[in-house]
Amino acid sequence: MTMRFFNTYSRSIEEFEPRDPTGHAVSMYTCGPTVYSRAHIGNFRAYIFEDLVQRHLELRGYQVHRVMNITDVDDKTIRGARQAKVPLAKFTEQFKQAFFEDSETLRIKRADQFPAATDQRYVDRMIDMIRELIARGLAYQADDKSVYFRINKFPDYGKLAHFDLTQLQSTGRVKHDEYDKEHIGDFALWKAWDEEDGDVKWASPWGPGRPGWHIECSAMAMALLGDQIDIHCGGVDNIFPHHEAEIAQSEGVTGKKFVRYWQHCAHLLVDSQKMSKSLGNFYTVPDVLAKGYTGRELRYALLRVHYRVPLNFTWEGMKEARESLSRIDEWLGRLRAVAEKENVQRPTPNAQHQIQPDFETALDDDLNISAALGFLFESIRETNRAMDENNLDAASASAWLDWWKRINTVLDLEAETEIPVPPEVAELAKKRDNARREKNWKQSDELRDRISGLGWEVRDAKDGQKITPRVTSG
Ligand code: AMP
Ligand code: ZN
Repeated sequence: MTMRFFNTYSRSIEEFEPRDPTGHAVSMYTCGPTVYSRAHIGNFRAYIFEDLVQRHLELRGYQVHRVMNITDVDDKTIRGARQAKVPLAKFTEQFKQAFFEDSETLRIKRADQFPAATDQRYVDRMIDMIRELIARGLAYQADDKSVYFRINKFPDYGKLAHFDLTQLQSTGRVKHDEYDKEHIGDFALWKAWDEEDGDVKWASPWGPGRPGWHIECSAMAMALLGDQIDIHCGGVDNIFPHHEAEIAQSEGVTGKKFVRYWQHCAHLLVDSQKMSKSLGNFYTVPDVLAKGYTGRELRYALLRVHYRVPLNFTWEGMKEARESLSRIDEWLGRLRAVAEKENVQRPTPNAQHQIQPDFETALDDDLNISAALGFLFESIRETNRAMDENNLDAASASAWLDWWKRINTVLDLEAETEIPVPPEVAELAKKRDNARREKNWKQSDELRDRISGLGWEVRDAKDGQKITPRVTSG
C-alpha cells in the first residue's frame, strides 16, 4: 500500500513517506480558526478535509500527532474586543467554545493539542525565533518599532506560492502604514504596540507589542511537533502569504526543511464566489441546523467532493446529502436484519464476503473521496439487489457490516440516535400509513401536509415510513 498526496510545494502528486524511521508516526499541523467571530461552514470545509487526512492515515495504520492552533490575537480580535468593551480573552473565549461545539456537531476528530497564540510559553518561543532571525540578518526593527522579515535575504521566498516576490520593485515609501519597511513584501514578525491595542501587549526586546500572525504558527508548530513536520494543511487562501511566511521564518531559524507535504483544500463557494465573512455570503453550522439539517448531513455535504475541487454550497446539495445518507441507513438496516436472521447458519459456500479494497485504495490516491463513495454506493446497489433476490447470506451481510465499520472510521457517517418524534406526529403518520394501505391517496396526502405543518417530513422507504424534521427551503 502506498499513499500519494498532491504537494503544493512541488505542484505534483508524491508518494507519502513520513520522516519517522519506523514509518509509523506522522506529525501534522493544521491552521486553526481566528476567533473573532463564529467560524463559517467554508472554514469547516477545510477542517473536515483535514479530518479526512488524519482519519485515512489512521485507517492505514499511521499514528498521527495533530496540532491545531487557535489564533486569539490579531487586528480583528483586538477590534472586536474593543467594540464589545470586554477584555480580549473574554471576547475570544465565546468563539473558541463555538468552534469546539461546531466541530463536535460535524464529528471532526479533536486534534491532540490546540495551542493558543496568547499563551506566554509560545509568545516566548516567538520572541526567541525573532531574536534568532535578527541575528541571522533575516529580520530588522524598523523606525516604527515593529520587526519585519527581510524577504530579500531568503532566496526561497515565493517557492510555495510559485512566484518570485523578490523581483517586486521596492519603491521606498509605499503606503502610510508600510513606510518603514525595506521592501513592500516584508512582513511583520512583531507589531509594536499602539493605542488601538489597549492593554493587549507583551514585553519584548523591541519594546511592548504583539506577534504577527505568521510567526504564531511557526512557533507553535515547532514547539509541539519539532523543527521538521510531515504534513501541514490549510485552505488555498493560506498558501500566500501565511504558509510562505511560515517556511521563511522556520527555515530561516533552523536551516532545515520545515514541512515535507503541503496540502491545501479548495474553497467552499456560494454562487461561484468564495464563502467568506467579508463578502457576507456565509452560513454557520447553527444556520444550517436551523433549517432542519443535522450535523452529519452537513458533514457529508462538505466531505463528498474531492478536496482540490471547489465546492458550491446549495440547499439542493444538502437535500442530496440527506438522500444519500438515507440510502446508507436503509442499507445498514437491511444488512443487520439479514445478518441476524440467518446467523445460526454456517456460511454458505458462495458467501460473497470477498470485498474489494477499492474504498481505501481510492483514498490512497490523493484522497479521492468521490471514487471511494462511488464504490460504496455501487456496493449498496449490488448488495441491495442480492437482498431483493434473497441471495445474500448471513456471512456476507456480516462481512459487509464489518467493512462498513472499518470505512466508517474515516467517514463517521452513521446515524445518530434519532430525534424523538412527538406523539401527535406519530399518530398522524400511523393514520397515513393506514390510508396508504387502503390506497386512499387523497387522505394520505392530507395527512402528509398536516405532518409537514407540525415541522416534520414523512418519506416512504422500503422498510416503512421515515419521519424526520422538516427542512425549510433555502
Ligand atoms: P481563518 O479563520 O480565516 O484563518 O480560516 C480558517 C481556515 O479556513 C483556513 O484554513 C482557511 O484557508 C479556511 N477557509 C476560509 N474560507 C474558506 C472557504 N470558503 N472554503 C474553504 N476553506 C476556507
Ligand atoms: Zn497558520
